[in-house]
Amino acid sequence: MQHSQRRDLREQLYKAYVSRAASGDYDNLGNIDRILELRQEMSNILGFDNFAELSLASKMAPNVAAVEGLLESLRSASFEAAKQDLEDLRAYAVAQNAPEANDLKHWDLAYWSERLREAKFDFNAEELRPYFPLEQVLSGLFNLAHNLFGITISAADGQAPIWHPDVCYFQVANEQGSAIAFFYLDAYSRPAEKRGGAWMDDCIGRSKIGGAVRLPVAYLTCNQTPPVDGKPSLMTFGEVETLFHEFGHGLQHMLTDVDYVGASGINNVEWDAVELPSQFMENWCYHRPTLLSLGKHYETGEPLPEHYYQKLLAARTFMSGSGMLRQIHFSGLDNQNCTSHY
Ligand SMILES: [Zn+2]
Repeated sequence: MQHSQRRDLREQLYKAYVSRAASGDYDNLGNIDRILELRQEMSNILGFDNFAELSLASKMAPNVAAVEGLLESLRSASFEAAKQDLEDLRAYAVAQNAPEANDLKHWDLAYWSERLREAKFDFNAEELRPYFPLEQVLSGLFNLAHNLFGITISAADGQAPIWHPDVCYFQVANEQGSAIAFFYLDAYSRPAEKRGGAWMDDCIGRSKIGGAVRLPVAYLTCNQTPPVDGKPSLMTFGEVETLFHEFGHGLQHMLTDVDYVGASGINNVEWDAVELPSQFMENWCYHRPTLLSLGKHYETGEPLPEHYYQKLLAARTFMSGSGMLRQIHFSGLDNQNCTSHY
């Protein structure tokens, strides 16, 4: 959808995608209606007026009105920006003499966004890799964690069994130098045996058993390029953000001081707050001193050039009005429950 120049194929794919499972043998509309009925019935049995109220009973947001208020404030802040996004796309398509320029449809937006992104920012993700070797990024991340939380992270390889030679094990110590947690980092892609994406999960939750504290252990899993030809693992900026994100989830699990495993670390975190520490950590990737402490050319030591930093900043908000409206549309349609922390 981003790269096909065949508008007819884009239209065909778009329509097929948005109407999947809506007719014929795989029509699931009846199931959706039944799920909604059952949710309503369950909510009433439990003493709530509707499923949204039931869902919020175990979340941080106080009530449905507060959620709708937040969504409305995001919608009104994004709406004009989204109109401008569309106007920018139209203007760019006109400038490129596209026949569809004055009649852009849903199936044209991803294509023209991508063309405009290329024209505006003029760099691709691969160019930044030499500035982000894994070891340097980790040391910058651990320094940041030290400055923010007073913790010291050090290699603890050999202190716990691992499932692959590339997996590293780390200790987290408090300001007094005592271990308070450990984590595994399985950073590299292994397509034959490892699922794609990135995630954090708990290996052991903190608990107190007979007076002795059992320390928490986290798994951090990423899928970046392994070291090749004597080069270290070189990361894209997106991979750096992903590592910070998962590390944020990991911190919530590891810095807990709750001694009851049912409530320690990531156990029993309100679902609408679960992405808070991960987003908090991601934001540091755009903090100039932090980013420049991570980003140095792995061969020459040259710091990340300023023009790249400026482009990263500009690219961060590219089409973000439209992106926000899309998310608000999904939120309004349903709230979905998942069980892993991506
Ligand atoms: Zn996450």
